[in-house]
Amino acid sequence: MAKILKPPGKFKILAILAGLNGESPLELIEKAGRTAYQSHHKISPGSAEKFIEMLRKLGHESVLEHSAMTVRFFDVSRGFTHQLVRHRLASYTQESTRYVDKRQLGLIIPPHKEASESIKISLPDGKQASLTLQDWFNLNEQVYRELRNKGWAAQDARQVLPIATSTEIVTTANFREWKRIFELRCAPDAHWEIRLTMVQLLKTVQKLIPVIFDDFKISEDETYATLEGS
Ligand SMILES: Cc1cc2nc3c(=O)[nH]c(=O)nc-3n(C[C@H](O)[C@H](O)[C@H](O)COP(=O)(O)OP(=O)(O)OC[C@H]3O[C@@H](n4cnc5c(N)ncnc54)[C@H](O)[C@@H]3O)c2cc1C
Repeated sequence: MAKILKPPGKFKILAILAGLNGESPLELIEKAGRTAYQSHHKISPGSAEKFIEMLRKLGHESVLEHSAMTVRFFDVSRGFTHQLVRHRLASYTQESTRYVDKRQLGLIIPPHKEASESIKISLPDGKQASLTLQDWFNLNEQVYRELRNKGWAAQDARQVLPIATSTEIVTTANFREWKRIFELRCAPDAHWEIRLTMVQLLKTVQKLIPVIFDDFKISEDETYATLEGS
């Protein structure tokens, strides 16, 4: 039976770029950024945060590109990843539907809808039938499986899969680009799936590296976030 999932999708932070000499990501940004002013002698405990705050105030955002983060997203839909990959300054590796068998479907549905909701449809013989969302996804899974059982390659059978089909993607981007992604994808008018997942990722990175991401304000119900001053 097709597995119904609801957002937020899951994620795991795989890496945050730090310095080879034991510098934290913030210290790495400071080390790179101070090249502009030849002020490395000013590096001291806690100076990285202040330096980055200063850069932010000046709008000198390119320096934030010296550190990056890699995140694995899973239990997200093909719709989610289609939106994510529009962000061109990031790198992606996604589960392939050409090579990976999708006999066991996971499907993401809107948080405000239930899989038990039914709709009326006309069958090929003209009869009317009542079908739940769960039934519809089960039928999808069955059609895919039957095509595979008949010898269809995964890359051919995938044509029947819905946009709600769950997938996995690994994304690497520098901090500046992550901020752009959060700005657009956590906004109140962003699609619910990417918005709810990105708000949770934003919440996590605000705890890990506040000075980079704390100019976003997350709503109390954690359904959206906005960038201060935008
Ligand atoms: C609410 C919402 C609805 C949307 N609806 C649609 C839709 O209906 N149809 C649709 O096709 N898309 C839609 N999009 C996608 C949107 O058009 C962008 O493709 C996507 O948000 C990536 O934004 P970006 O180009 O700013 O960011 P990125 O690709 O992440 O780039 C970051 C920044 O780098 C700079 N940059 C990157 N590439 C270039 C370049 N080639 N030239 C100059 N500067 C560059 C820009 O300053 C850009 O803002 C939607 C996005 C959102 C958030």
